[in-house]
Amino acid sequence: MTQSERRLMSVGELTPDRLRELRRIAEAGPAGDWDMIELEHSTVLAMLDEIERLREMLFRLYQDTVSGAYCHRCSLSAGDHDETCAMAEVEALLGLEFERGVRDE
Ligand SMILES: [Zn+2]
Repeated sequence: MTQSERRLMSVGELTPDRLRELRRIAEAGPAGDWDMIELEHSTVLAMLDEIERLREMLFRLYQDTVSGAYCHRCSLSAGDHDETCAMAEVEALLGLEFERGVRDE
């Protein structure tokens, strides 16, 4: 089995049920089930893979919503959304930066 095959299998293990279980164990803290958890290398890699996949998907959705610096959700510019526009939070989460007030003409 190659490294990438192992990683793909690991990603498949991160089902919503598995994530809930990992959270339950993690929130129980060291006094909880930590000895029983298999928070092993493959689990950490699976979590990182999942985070990367979600970030890539979020960026694709962002690109569908904000095109040519125009936000189709709030009708303002990238980096200059109104206070109710979720794209401002998406930009912050993805680390996207824009010069404020600069609009494409
Ligand atoms: Zn917006």
